[in-house]
This record gives sequence, structure tokens and C-alpha cells, in this order.
Amino acid sequence: MNKKLIISSITILIVATLFSWRTATQNVDNLTFSKSELLGKIKPANNAAFTKVDSEYILGDRTIYLRKEVFRAFTKMYDSAKTCGIELKLISGFRSFEHQQRIWEGKWNGKIAATGLNFSDPNLTDLKKAQIILNYSSMPGISRHHWGTDIDIIDLNPKYFETTKGKKAYSWLKTNAKNFGFCQPYTAFDSIRSSGFWEEKWHWSYFPISDLMLKDYQRLIKYSDISGFKGCWTADSLKVIENYVFNISADCK
Ligand SMILES: [Zn+2]
Repeated sequence: MNKKLIISSITILIVATLFSWRTATQNVDNLTFSKSELLGKIKPANNAAFTKVDSEYILGDRTIYLRKEVFRAFTKMYDSAKTCGIELKLISGFRSFEHQQRIWEGKWNGKIAATGLNFSDPNLTDLKKAQIILNYSSMPGISRHHWGTDIDIIDLNPKYFETTKGKKAYSWLKTNAKNFGFCQPYTAFDSIRSSGFWEEKWHWSYFPISDLMLKDYQRLIKYSDISGFKGCWTADSLKVIENYVFNISADCK
């Protein structure tokens, strides 16, 4: 190869590298999300950013969609956990506004049981009812599951994580999830996070994207956007954006 050819090959390589680096950086910097994406008002089956999760990663017979990048990171974490004898099977991923509305209104109407909610309590007001449901269930419009970045895995019962198997899985996640980009937004209450959603050892979030979505949520979403379902008026009174959406563990901020 002559000198000229070598020099021009190196130049092409440098330019190509710089260009791809710049494009990648721009992609991250420019990644912004619409109100519809932040509120779960999209159809993941028709959205190029999403993928349908293979059934081998799912617990039972469910259809789950996640953002493609989230799924890629999850499969790496799943494979790594598996080598330690831990199965991080998915129970939930993306949930639409309408899906969350069905859960919320089911609990609001008493058709779905909500821990701690007693309809025969004469002092049960709408505000109290919303607060009790909010311990474990999100209002439509304030769920991180709308984003396609958050997953529920293994078991939704807090008691499972007190068993030997449950403790082993959670301990593995506490040590290793961050290496795959995942954080636990709803940790046990402490001096930093003393209210909001109760601890969920099964709920993990893909930080590189959910962090950007949280920032866009802060910029774009108002209380007037959290509407269109039973008891939605309580959202503003309970300041759910401040007290729930932003009330997350330091690991996810
Ligand atoms: Zn969850």
C-alpha cells in the first residue's frame, strides 16, 4: 500500500469514527419524549421504539412490550442472573394509560381488592381512598410503566422477598442491577424517601432512558394532563406529581 493510500484510509477512519461518535452523542442529547409517551397514550405494537418481549423471559402467559434498548439491557441482566440460579421473569413492562385506568378504577369501585381499603369504613373519603390505592397502584398518568423503561419481575407479593429464594434474588439485584443500567425507584422509606409509593422490590427501572423521561415529565406534564378517570380530581389535592412521580430513591435520580 502506498503512503497516500494509507494516509487517506486513516483520514476516512478518523472522520467516520468522529461522525459516528457525534451521531451517538446527538442521539442521547436529543432524545426527548412527547406528552403521549410520558402518559402512556401510545400503542407499543405500532411503535418502532418498542419490541414485544419473547415468552421465554415472561412469567406465565402475558404479552409484554418494552423499549428496545430496555429489553436489550434486560436480557443481559437476565442471562447473568440465570448463571447464579436466579430467574428474573417479567410480570409487567409497558402499561398504557387505559390499562392503568382499568386497575385504578377497579380498585376505586371495589372490583379489584386494594390492600388496606375498607369500603365499610364510614370515614372513607375520596381523598383517603386515593391515598390507600396509591400505596401500591399508580394513578393513570403517573405510572413509570407508561414509559416502557420500567419492569416488574419475579413476584408482586412483598412476602415473597422474605423467603430464602426471594432474599437471594433481591440481594443479587441490589448488587448487580446497576451494572446493567437498572435501579429500584421505590425503596424502603428512610430519611431521604419517607413517603410516596411503598417499597417495591420487584420494580426496576432502566435509568439511562427513564432519567431522561423523568426530566421531560417535569417539563411537560401538568395536573390538567392527569384527568379522565374516576377520582382524578384527587391528583392535584394529593400533589401526586411531587409526592409520587418525583419521590423516588436516590439511585434513580
Ligand atoms: Zn411496577
